[in-house]
Amino acid sequence: MNTTKKNSSATQEPVASSDVLVIGAGIIGLAHAAIAHQAGLSVTVIERDHRAVGASIRNFGHACITAQHGELYDIAQAGRRHWLNFADKAGFWALESGALVVAATEIELQLLREFSAVRPSGQITVLDAEQVRAKLGRETTNGIRGGAFLADDLRVDPRTTVGTLAGWLDQQDSAAVHFNTAALGFDEGTQRRARVTTSRGAYEADQVFICVGHDVDYFFPEIAAEHKITRCSLQMTSAAAPESTTIVPAVLTATSMLRYEAFTVLPSASALRRQVEAARPDLLEIGANVMFTQRPDGTLLLGDSHAYALTQAPFLTESVSDTLLEAAAKVLDVETIHPIERWQGIYASSDVAPLLIRNITDAITLVSVTSGIGMTLSFGLAESNINAVLPAMTTNSPAR
Ligand SMILES: Cc1cc2nc3c(=O)[nH]c(=O)nc-3n(C[C@H](O)[C@H](O)[C@H](O)COP(=O)(O)OP(=O)(O)OC[C@H]3O[C@@H](n4cnc5c(N)ncnc54)[C@H](O)[C@@H]3O)c2cc1C
Repeated sequence: MNTTKKNSSATQEPVASSDVLVIGAGIIGLAHAAIAHQAGLSVTVIERDHRAVGASIRNFGHACITAQHGELYDIAQAGRRHWLNFADKAGFWALESGALVVAATEIELQLLREFSAVRPSGQITVLDAEQVRAKLGRETTNGIRGGAFLADDLRVDPRTTVGTLAGWLDQQDSAAVHFNTAALGFDEGTQRRARVTTSRGAYEADQVFICVGHDVDYFFPEIAAEHKITRCSLQMTSAAAPESTTIVPAVLTATSMLRYEAFTVLPSASALRRQVEAARPDLLEIGANVMFTQRPDGTLLLGDSHAYALTQAPFLTESVSDTLLEAAAKVLDVETIHPIERWQGIYASSDVAPLLIRNITDAITLVSVTSGIGMTLSFGLAESNINAVLPAMTTNSPAR
Protein backbone atom coordinates (compact mmCIF):
# COMPACT_ATOMS: atom_id res chain seq x y z
CA MET A 1 0.00 0.00 0.00
CA ASN A 2 2.44 2.64 -1.17
CA THR A 3 1.62 6.30 -1.47
CA THR A 4 1.79 6.75 -5.24
CA LYS A 5 2.84 10.06 -6.76
CA LYS A 6 1.96 10.78 -10.39
CA ASN A 7 2.31 13.80 -12.63
CA SER A 8 -0.70 16.05 -12.75
CA SER A 9 -2.16 16.23 -16.23
CA ALA A 10 -5.01 17.76 -18.14
CA THR A 11 -6.85 14.44 -17.77
CA GLN A 12 -7.19 15.16 -14.04
CA GLU A 13 -4.99 12.24 -12.97
CA PRO A 14 -4.45 12.58 -9.22
CA VAL A 15 -1.12 13.96 -8.04
CA ALA A 16 -1.12 11.50 -5.17
CA SER A 17 -3.18 8.55 -4.13
CA SER A 18 -3.18 6.85 -0.75
CA ASP A 19 -5.41 4.94 1.62
CA VAL A 20 -5.75 7.96 3.88
CA LEU A 21 -5.41 11.65 3.09
CA VAL A 22 -5.21 14.12 5.95
CA ILE A 23 -5.77 17.85 5.47
CA GLY A 24 -3.82 19.91 8.00
CA ALA A 25 -0.48 19.17 9.71
CA GLY A 26 -1.48 20.40 13.17
CA ILE A 27 -1.54 17.85 15.99
CA ILE A 28 -5.03 16.58 15.10
CA GLY A 29 -4.10 15.88 11.48
CA LEU A 30 -0.71 14.40 12.32
CA ALA A 31 -2.14 12.18 15.06
CA HIS A 32 -4.63 10.77 12.50
CA ALA A 33 -1.80 10.26 10.01
CA ALA A 34 0.47 8.60 12.59
CA ILE A 35 -2.22 6.21 13.82
CA ALA A 36 -3.25 5.37 10.24
CA HIS A 37 0.37 4.66 9.36
CA GLN A 38 0.72 2.49 12.45
CA ALA A 39 -2.34 0.53 11.30
CA GLY A 40 -0.53 -0.30 8.04
CA LEU A 41 -2.33 2.21 5.81
CA SER A 42 -0.62 4.45 3.29
CA VAL A 43 -1.09 8.08 4.24
CA THR A 44 -0.55 11.52 2.76
CA VAL A 45 -0.80 14.75 4.75
CA ILE A 46 -1.23 18.09 3.02
CA GLU A 47 -0.64 21.39 4.81
CA ARG A 48 -1.28 24.81 3.31
CA ASP A 49 1.67 26.50 5.01
CA HIS A 50 5.38 25.80 4.52
CA ARG A 51 5.31 24.51 8.11
CA ALA A 52 2.45 24.25 10.56
CA VAL A 53 2.10 27.43 12.64
CA GLY A 54 -1.42 27.00 14.00
CA ALA A 55 -2.73 26.33 17.50
CA SER A 56 -0.53 23.26 17.86
CA ILE A 57 2.70 25.25 18.08
CA ARG A 58 1.25 28.15 20.09
CA ASN A 59 0.01 26.25 23.13
CA PHE A 60 1.43 25.01 26.44
CA GLY A 61 2.22 21.51 25.19
CA HIS A 62 0.21 20.15 28.06
CA ALA A 63 -1.66 16.86 27.68
CA CYS A 64 -4.10 17.82 30.41
CA ILE A 65 -5.45 14.32 30.89
CA THR A 66 -6.50 14.23 34.54
CA ALA A 67 -8.69 17.36 34.47
CA GLN A 68 -10.93 15.94 31.72
CA HIS A 69 -14.30 14.45 32.55
CA GLY A 70 -16.52 11.69 31.12
CA GLU A 71 -15.94 10.74 27.48
CA LEU A 72 -13.19 13.35 27.09
CA TYR A 73 -11.28 11.78 29.97
CA ASP A 74 -11.48 8.36 28.28
CA ILE A 75 -10.23 9.84 24.98
CA ALA A 76 -7.40 11.67 26.75
CA GLN A 77 -6.32 8.54 28.64
CA ALA A 78 -6.48 6.45 25.43
CA GLY A 79 -4.08 8.87 23.74
CA ARG A 80 -1.49 8.86 26.52
CA ARG A 81 0.41 5.76 25.41
CA HIS A 82 0.43 7.00 21.79
CA TRP A 83 2.01 10.30 22.86
CA LEU A 84 4.83 8.41 24.57
CA ASN A 85 5.15 5.86 21.77
CA PHE A 86 5.37 8.45 18.97
CA ALA A 87 7.70 10.66 21.02
CA ASP A 88 9.99 7.66 21.19
CA LYS A 89 9.65 6.74 17.50
CA ALA A 90 9.70 10.21 15.99
CA GLY A 91 12.17 11.65 18.49
CA PHE A 92 10.22 14.57 19.90
CA TRP A 93 10.55 15.64 23.54
CA ALA A 94 7.85 14.33 25.88
CA LEU A 95 7.84 14.13 29.63
CA GLU A 96 5.71 12.18 32.11
CA SER A 97 5.73 15.40 34.07
CA GLY A 98 2.36 15.32 35.76
CA ALA A 99 0.63 18.59 36.60
CA LEU A 100 0.68 20.63 39.78
CA VAL A 101 -2.42 22.52 40.87
CA VAL A 102 -1.45 25.29 43.26
CA ALA A 103 -4.04 26.22 45.90
CA ALA A 104 -3.91 29.63 47.55
CA THR A 105 -7.03 29.27 49.70
CA GLU A 106 -8.87 26.69 51.78
CA ILE A 107 -11.69 26.47 49.20
CA GLU A 108 -9.17 25.63 46.45
CA LEU A 109 -7.59 22.99 48.66
CA GLN A 110 -10.99 21.56 49.55
CA LEU A 111 -11.83 21.23 45.84
CA LEU A 112 -8.57 19.34 45.32
CA ARG A 113 -9.40 17.00 48.20
CA GLU A 114 -12.80 16.33 46.61
CA PHE A 115 -11.09 15.68 43.26
CA SER A 116 -8.65 13.24 44.81
CA ALA A 117 -11.51 11.40 46.53
CA VAL A 118 -13.39 10.65 43.29
CA ARG A 119 -10.37 9.42 41.30
CA PRO A 120 -8.44 6.13 41.48
CA SER A 121 -5.95 5.97 44.30
CA GLY A 122 -2.54 7.37 43.37
CA GLN A 123 -3.76 9.49 40.43
CA ILE A 124 -4.11 12.67 42.49
CA THR A 125 -1.99 13.44 45.54
CA VAL A 126 -3.04 16.33 47.75
CA LEU A 127 0.04 18.28 48.86
CA ASP A 128 0.90 20.66 51.68
CA ALA A 129 2.62 23.99 51.01
CA GLU A 130 6.07 22.52 51.55
CA GLN A 131 5.47 19.79 48.99
CA VAL A 132 4.13 22.33 46.49
CA ARG A 133 7.26 24.39 46.99
CA ALA A 134 9.40 21.34 46.23
CA LYS A 135 7.46 20.62 43.01
CA LEU A 136 7.74 24.26 41.96
CA GLY A 137 11.46 24.31 42.70
CA ARG A 138 10.95 27.55 44.66
CA GLU A 139 12.21 28.34 48.11
CA THR A 140 9.35 30.54 49.19
CA THR A 141 5.67 29.72 49.13
CA ASN A 142 4.22 33.12 49.76
CA GLY A 143 0.43 32.78 49.59
CA ILE A 144 0.46 29.06 48.82
CA ARG A 145 -1.70 26.89 51.04
CA GLY A 146 -1.18 23.55 49.38
CA GLY A 147 -2.02 21.88 46.11
CA ALA A 148 -2.34 18.61 44.27
CA PHE A 149 -0.17 16.60 41.94
CA LEU A 150 -1.92 15.00 38.94
CA ALA A 151 0.36 12.12 38.02
CA ASP A 152 -0.97 11.12 34.58
CA ASP A 153 -0.47 14.41 32.72
CA LEU A 154 2.22 14.70 30.06
CA ARG A 155 4.13 17.57 28.55
CA VAL A 156 5.65 18.06 25.10
CA ASP A 157 7.43 21.04 23.57
CA PRO A 158 4.77 22.73 21.42
CA ARG A 159 7.33 24.60 19.32
CA THR A 160 8.93 21.42 17.98
CA THR A 161 6.48 18.53 18.36
CA VAL A 162 4.40 18.81 15.18
CA GLY A 163 7.42 19.70 13.02
CA THR A 164 9.35 16.67 14.28
CA LEU A 165 6.37 14.35 13.92
CA ALA A 166 5.69 15.57 10.36
CA GLY A 167 9.36 15.14 9.43
CA TRP A 168 9.41 11.61 10.83
CA LEU A 169 6.19 10.64 9.04
CA ASP A 170 7.50 11.95 5.75
CA GLN A 171 10.52 9.64 6.06
CA GLN A 172 8.39 6.52 6.53
CA ASP A 173 7.53 4.12 3.73
CA SER A 174 4.04 4.74 2.42
CA ALA A 175 3.71 8.09 4.17
CA ALA A 176 4.24 11.60 2.83
CA VAL A 177 3.73 15.14 4.10
CA HIS A 178 3.26 17.82 1.44
CA PHE A 179 3.63 21.38 2.70
CA ASN A 180 2.55 24.50 0.84
CA THR A 181 -0.38 22.52 -0.54
CA ALA A 182 -3.81 23.93 0.27
CA ALA A 183 -7.00 21.90 0.02
CA LEU A 184 -9.54 23.82 -2.04
CA GLY A 185 -12.52 21.47 -2.26
CA PHE A 186 -13.79 17.93 -1.76
CA ASP A 187 -15.92 15.53 -3.77
CA GLU A 188 -16.78 11.88 -4.10
CA GLY A 189 -14.22 11.24 -6.85
CA THR A 190 -14.16 7.96 -8.70
CA GLN A 191 -14.93 4.44 -7.47
CA ARG A 192 -16.16 5.83 -4.18
CA ARG A 193 -12.71 7.22 -3.41
CA ALA A 194 -12.68 10.79 -2.16
CA ARG A 195 -11.07 13.40 -4.36
CA VAL A 196 -9.57 16.58 -2.99
CA THR A 197 -8.76 19.55 -5.18
CA THR A 198 -5.64 21.35 -3.97
CA SER A 199 -3.39 24.22 -5.01
CA ARG A 200 -1.12 21.53 -6.51
CA GLY A 201 -3.67 19.33 -8.28
CA ALA A 202 -6.04 16.59 -7.21
CA TYR A 203 -5.40 14.01 -4.47
CA GLU A 204 -7.38 10.80 -4.04
CA ALA A 205 -7.84 8.53 -1.04
CA ASP A 206 -10.17 5.91 0.37
CA GLN A 207 -10.62 8.05 3.46
CA VAL A 208 -10.03 11.75 3.92
CA PHE A 209 -9.77 13.40 7.34
CA ILE A 210 -10.21 17.16 7.26
CA CYS A 211 -8.34 18.53 10.29
CA VAL A 212 -8.16 22.27 9.64
CA GLY A 213 -8.50 23.39 13.27
CA HIS A 214 -10.57 26.56 13.63
CA ASP A 215 -11.08 27.03 9.90
CA VAL A 216 -14.05 24.67 9.51
CA ASP A 217 -16.19 27.61 8.32
CA TYR A 218 -13.91 28.18 5.31
CA PHE A 219 -15.15 24.87 3.84
CA PHE A 220 -18.39 24.07 5.63
CA PRO A 221 -20.05 27.30 6.80
CA GLU A 222 -23.38 25.58 7.48
CA ILE A 223 -21.81 22.90 9.68
CA ALA A 224 -19.73 25.51 11.49
CA ALA A 225 -22.85 27.61 12.11
CA GLU A 226 -24.90 24.61 13.23
CA HIS A 227 -22.14 23.54 15.67
CA LYS A 228 -21.81 27.22 16.69
CA ILE A 229 -18.07 27.21 16.08
CA THR A 230 -16.36 30.43 16.91
CA ARG A 231 -12.68 31.40 17.25
CA CYS A 232 -11.20 31.69 20.71
CA SER A 233 -8.18 33.99 20.90
CA LEU A 234 -5.63 33.54 23.68
CA GLN A 235 -2.76 35.79 24.74
CA MET A 236 0.47 34.03 25.59
CA THR A 237 3.90 35.11 26.81
CA SER A 238 7.27 33.42 27.11
CA ALA A 239 9.81 34.39 29.77
CA ALA A 240 12.99 33.12 31.35
CA ALA A 241 12.28 31.10 34.50
CA PRO A 242 13.19 33.12 37.62
CA GLU A 243 16.63 32.13 38.96
CA SER A 244 16.75 29.44 36.25
CA THR A 245 14.28 27.35 38.24
CA THR A 246 13.40 23.94 36.82
CA ILE A 247 9.65 23.31 37.04
CA VAL A 248 8.81 19.82 35.86
CA PRO A 249 4.99 19.66 36.04
CA ALA A 250 2.54 21.85 34.17
CA VAL A 251 1.35 24.39 36.74
CA LEU A 252 -2.37 25.18 37.10
CA THR A 253 -4.17 27.55 39.48
CA ALA A 254 -7.67 28.41 40.74
CA THR A 255 -8.73 29.85 37.39
CA SER A 256 -7.78 26.53 35.76
CA MET A 257 -10.13 24.80 38.19
CA LEU A 258 -12.93 27.06 36.94
CA ARG A 259 -12.38 25.89 33.34
CA TYR A 260 -11.88 22.12 33.36
CA GLU A 261 -14.99 20.02 33.81
CA ALA A 262 -13.42 17.49 36.17
CA PHE A 263 -13.23 20.36 38.68
CA THR A 264 -16.45 22.19 37.82
CA VAL A 265 -18.64 19.15 38.63
CA LEU A 266 -17.27 18.94 42.19
CA PRO A 267 -19.28 20.17 45.23
CA SER A 268 -16.97 23.11 46.08
CA ALA A 269 -16.81 24.44 42.50
CA SER A 270 -19.52 27.07 42.97
CA ALA A 271 -17.87 28.32 46.18
CA LEU A 272 -14.60 28.64 44.26
CA ARG A 273 -16.31 30.63 41.51
CA ARG A 274 -17.82 33.00 44.08
CA GLN A 275 -14.42 33.37 45.72
CA VAL A 276 -12.66 34.28 42.45
CA GLU A 277 -15.55 36.57 41.45
CA ALA A 278 -15.07 38.47 44.70
CA ALA A 279 -11.26 38.46 44.86
CA ARG A 280 -10.17 38.66 41.22
CA PRO A 281 -12.97 39.84 38.91
CA ASP A 282 -10.23 41.14 36.58
CA LEU A 283 -9.10 37.57 35.93
CA LEU A 284 -12.64 36.46 35.09
CA GLU A 285 -13.12 39.48 32.82
CA ILE A 286 -10.29 38.35 30.55
CA GLY A 287 -11.28 34.68 30.78
CA ALA A 288 -7.98 33.88 32.47
CA ASN A 289 -6.57 30.44 32.97
CA VAL A 290 -3.43 31.33 34.87
CA MET A 291 -1.02 28.50 34.12
CA PHE A 292 2.46 27.84 32.84
CA THR A 293 4.75 25.14 31.52
CA GLN A 294 8.47 25.02 30.91
CA ARG A 295 10.11 24.24 27.57
CA PRO A 296 13.20 21.99 27.47
CA ASP A 297 15.41 25.11 27.16
CA GLY A 298 14.04 26.41 30.46
CA THR A 299 11.76 29.08 29.00
CA LEU A 300 8.37 29.41 30.61
CA LEU A 301 5.21 29.48 28.47
CA LEU A 302 2.71 31.60 30.39
CA GLY A 303 -0.93 32.27 29.77
CA ASP A 304 -3.69 32.67 29.03
CA SER A 305 -6.77 34.75 28.34
CA HIS A 306 -9.86 33.79 26.32
CA ALA A 307 -11.85 36.04 23.96
CA TYR A 308 -14.43 34.80 21.46
CA ALA A 309 -15.29 36.08 17.96
CA LEU A 310 -15.94 34.57 14.53
CA THR A 311 -13.07 36.64 13.13
CA GLN A 312 -10.40 37.65 15.62
CA ALA A 313 -8.59 40.97 15.66
CA PRO A 314 -4.83 40.26 15.56
CA PHE A 315 -3.93 42.78 18.25
CA LEU A 316 -2.64 41.85 21.71
CA THR A 317 -3.76 43.97 24.66
CA GLU A 318 -0.94 44.94 26.99
CA SER A 319 -3.13 45.12 30.11
CA VAL A 320 -4.29 41.51 29.54
CA SER A 321 -0.68 40.30 29.38
CA ASP A 322 0.14 42.35 32.49
CA THR A 323 -2.72 40.82 34.46
CA LEU A 324 -1.69 37.29 33.51
CA LEU A 325 1.99 37.89 34.27
CA GLU A 326 1.23 39.48 37.61
CA ALA A 327 -0.87 36.44 38.59
CA ALA A 328 1.89 34.02 37.52
CA ALA A 329 4.52 36.10 39.34
CA LYS A 330 2.47 35.69 42.50
CA VAL A 331 2.55 31.88 42.19
CA LEU A 332 6.32 31.96 41.62
CA ASP A 333 6.73 34.53 44.38
CA VAL A 334 8.72 36.98 42.27
CA GLU A 335 8.27 40.73 41.81
CA THR A 336 7.93 40.67 38.05
CA ILE A 337 8.27 38.36 35.09
CA HIS A 338 10.18 39.79 32.14
CA PRO A 339 8.61 38.73 28.84
CA ILE A 340 10.69 37.46 25.94
CA GLU A 341 7.87 36.99 23.40
CA ARG A 342 4.14 37.55 23.22
CA TRP A 343 1.78 35.87 20.75
CA GLN A 344 -1.81 35.15 19.94
CA GLY A 345 -3.13 31.61 19.66
CA ILE A 346 -6.51 30.75 18.20
CA TYR A 347 -8.53 27.60 18.58
CA ALA A 348 -12.01 26.45 17.56
CA SER A 349 -14.60 26.77 20.30
CA SER A 350 -18.22 25.72 20.58
CA ASP A 351 -20.86 25.75 23.31
CA VAL A 352 -22.68 22.94 21.52
CA ALA A 353 -20.07 20.19 22.02
CA PRO A 354 -16.36 19.88 22.74
CA LEU A 355 -15.73 17.88 19.56
CA LEU A 356 -16.95 17.97 16.00
CA ILE A 357 -16.70 14.70 14.08
CA ARG A 358 -18.88 14.75 10.98
CA ASN A 359 -19.08 12.38 8.02
CA ILE A 360 -19.28 14.64 4.98
CA THR A 361 -19.54 11.50 2.81
CA ASP A 362 -18.71 7.84 3.53
CA ALA A 363 -15.12 8.67 2.58
CA ILE A 364 -14.69 12.14 4.07
CA THR A 365 -14.65 12.94 7.79
CA LEU A 366 -14.39 16.40 9.30
CA VAL A 367 -12.64 16.52 12.69
CA SER A 368 -12.24 19.57 14.89
CA VAL A 369 -11.65 19.82 18.63
CA THR A 370 -13.92 22.68 19.62
CA SER A 371 -12.87 23.02 23.24
CA GLY A 372 -9.23 24.09 23.46
CA ILE A 373 -7.89 20.67 24.48
CA GLY A 374 -6.72 19.37 21.12
CA MET A 375 -3.24 18.41 22.34
CA THR A 376 -4.79 16.37 25.12
CA LEU A 377 -7.31 14.58 22.91
CA SER A 378 -5.38 14.27 19.63
CA PHE A 379 -4.08 10.70 19.73
CA GLY A 380 -7.06 9.18 21.55
CA LEU A 381 -9.41 10.84 19.07
CA ALA A 382 -7.29 9.70 16.13
CA GLU A 383 -7.27 6.12 17.42
CA SER A 384 -11.03 6.08 17.66
CA ASN A 385 -11.56 7.72 14.22
CA ILE A 386 -9.07 5.45 12.41
CA ASN A 387 -10.54 2.35 14.10
CA ALA A 388 -13.97 3.45 12.87
CA VAL A 389 -12.90 3.44 9.19
CA LEU A 390 -10.50 0.47 9.28
CA PRO A 391 -13.03 -2.32 8.62
CA ALA A 392 -14.32 -0.63 5.44
CA MET A 393 -10.78 0.08 4.26
CA THR A 394 -9.57 -3.46 4.77
CA THR A 395 -12.50 -4.59 2.63
CA ASN A 396 -11.75 -2.01 -0.06
CA SER A 397 -7.98 -2.38 -0.28
CA PRO A 398 -7.51 -5.61 -2.26
CA ALA A 399 -9.80 -4.33 -5.03
CA ARG A 400 -7.46 -1.45 -5.90
C1 LIG B 1 -2.62 29.46 23.35
C2 LIG B 1 -3.20 28.09 23.32
C3 LIG B 1 -2.95 27.23 24.38
C4 LIG B 1 -3.46 25.94 24.34
N1 LIG B 1 -3.08 25.05 25.30
C5 LIG B 1 -3.42 23.75 25.18
C6 LIG B 1 -2.89 22.77 26.06
O1 LIG B 1 -2.04 23.05 26.90
N2 LIG B 1 -3.36 21.51 25.97
C7 LIG B 1 -4.26 21.15 25.03
O2 LIG B 1 -4.69 19.99 25.01
N3 LIG B 1 -4.70 22.02 24.11
C8 LIG B 1 -4.30 23.31 24.16
N4 LIG B 1 -4.73 24.21 23.25
C9 LIG B 1 -5.62 23.76 22.18
C10 LIG B 1 -4.84 23.04 21.11
O3 LIG B 1 -3.67 23.77 20.79
C11 LIG B 1 -5.70 22.88 19.86
O4 LIG B 1 -6.94 22.29 20.22
C12 LIG B 1 -5.02 22.00 18.85
O5 LIG B 1 -3.70 22.45 18.60
C13 LIG B 1 -5.81 21.99 17.55
O6 LIG B 1 -5.06 21.23 16.63
P1 LIG B 1 -5.45 21.24 15.11
O7 LIG B 1 -4.52 20.33 14.42
O8 LIG B 1 -6.93 20.99 14.98
O9 LIG B 1 -5.29 22.76 14.67
P2 LIG B 1 -4.00 23.56 14.16
O10 LIG B 1 -2.81 23.28 14.97
O11 LIG B 1 -4.44 24.97 14.04
O12 LIG B 1 -3.73 22.93 12.74
C14 LIG B 1 -4.62 23.04 11.66
C15 LIG B 1 -3.74 23.02 10.42
O13 LIG B 1 -4.58 22.94 9.27
C16 LIG B 1 -3.96 23.70 8.26
N5 LIG B 1 -4.96 24.03 7.23
C17 LIG B 1 -6.04 24.83 7.38
N6 LIG B 1 -6.71 24.91 6.21
C18 LIG B 1 -6.03 24.16 5.32
C19 LIG B 1 -6.21 23.85 3.94
N7 LIG B 1 -7.24 24.35 3.25
N8 LIG B 1 -5.34 23.03 3.32
C20 LIG B 1 -4.28 22.50 4.00
N9 LIG B 1 -4.04 22.78 5.31
C21 LIG B 1 -4.92 23.59 5.96
C22 LIG B 1 -3.45 24.92 8.99
O14 LIG B 1 -2.46 25.60 8.24
C23 LIG B 1 -2.93 24.30 10.28
O15 LIG B 1 -1.54 23.98 10.20
C24 LIG B 1 -4.27 25.51 23.26
C25 LIG B 1 -4.53 26.39 22.22
C26 LIG B 1 -3.99 27.65 22.23
C27 LIG B 1 -4.26 28.55 21.06
